[in-house]
Amino acid sequence: MSIPVEIVEVGPRDGLQSQPTLVDTDTKIEFITRLIDAGARRLEVASFVNPKRVPQMADADEVIARLPRRPGVSYIGLVLNQRGFERAAASGIDQINSVAVASDTFCQRNQGVTSAQMYQQIRDMARAAQAAGRFFGVTIAAAFGCPFEGEVPVSRVLDMVRAYADLGVDEIALADTIGVAVPGQISAMLQQVLPILGATPLRLHCHNTRNTGIANVYAAAEAGVRIFDASCGGVGGCPFAPGATGNVGTEDLLYMLERMGYRSGMSLEGMIAVAKWLAGPLGAPTPAMVSRASVFPPALAAG
Ligand code: ZN
Repeated sequence: MSIPVEIVEVGPRDGLQSQPTLVDTDTKIEFITRLIDAGARRLEVASFVNPKRVPQMADADEVIARLPRRPGVSYIGLVLNQRGFERAAASGIDQINSVAVASDTFCQRNQGVTSAQMYQQIRDMARAAQAAGRFFGVTIAAAFGCPFEGEVPVSRVLDMVRAYADLGVDEIALADTIGVAVPGQISAMLQQVLPILGATPLRLHCHNTRNTGIANVYAAAEAGVRIFDASCGGVGGCPFAPGATGNVGTEDLLYMLERMGYRSGMSLEGMIAVAKWLAGPLGAPTPAMVSRASVFPPALAAG
């Protein structure tokens, strides 16, 4: 059994954006290059946000201008509003990903508008992207719980999925932005989401805040999801979500999925090496687990 999965490496954006130590552009480019060398083929590398609000992303334009261009490698830039969309479109980034939020309070804190107002904005962006022939995706943030409102009704997420799929976007991602989801919830949500998605690909974005990230990925993979976000070393957070911690670690995901028969094209050893390297620029060991354990099975160490 060998089932292809795509792991989208979000370390350079979601992983770095709320790190206390400012990471310079040279280091970001080195990080991205090392990730590609370890097999990453689709990477979220920047967000086009107000640099005053997210200083770590202030060099987004320079990062994109300096990205290593390799065959088969594509890059995603995140946008939260029209202004960000225009910057992203002008930057030449391969794929633009917008963010809708499943709760109004979080949407106001993150993006300064209600969820319904955000829909209007994303509809306009989607039309502009489609007219320009650009890849355009939507992430539904806080889809499994909101830091301010608590439980998010499944019906709300389903309405959003339906609305964004109707816009003809290239991909929809469900994000557990604050890491509150549990596997049963993921399975139950997917059972309802997958039938209404039609041909729109689904991506899952998990944080490991409460140690359920890897279990949530397992539940989603079993339900048929084939695109997962992860960040090397499990670094990450959200500047506007209190208590949000790292993404699920790429190497942790790789270890589990590859041993279950899924194939991502990434190198586990390579990704472990990048996680160990990343501890240097960040000034602290990365939180994910597999890079701290010995390689298993041991024969891998020689090959
Ligand atoms: Zn995230």
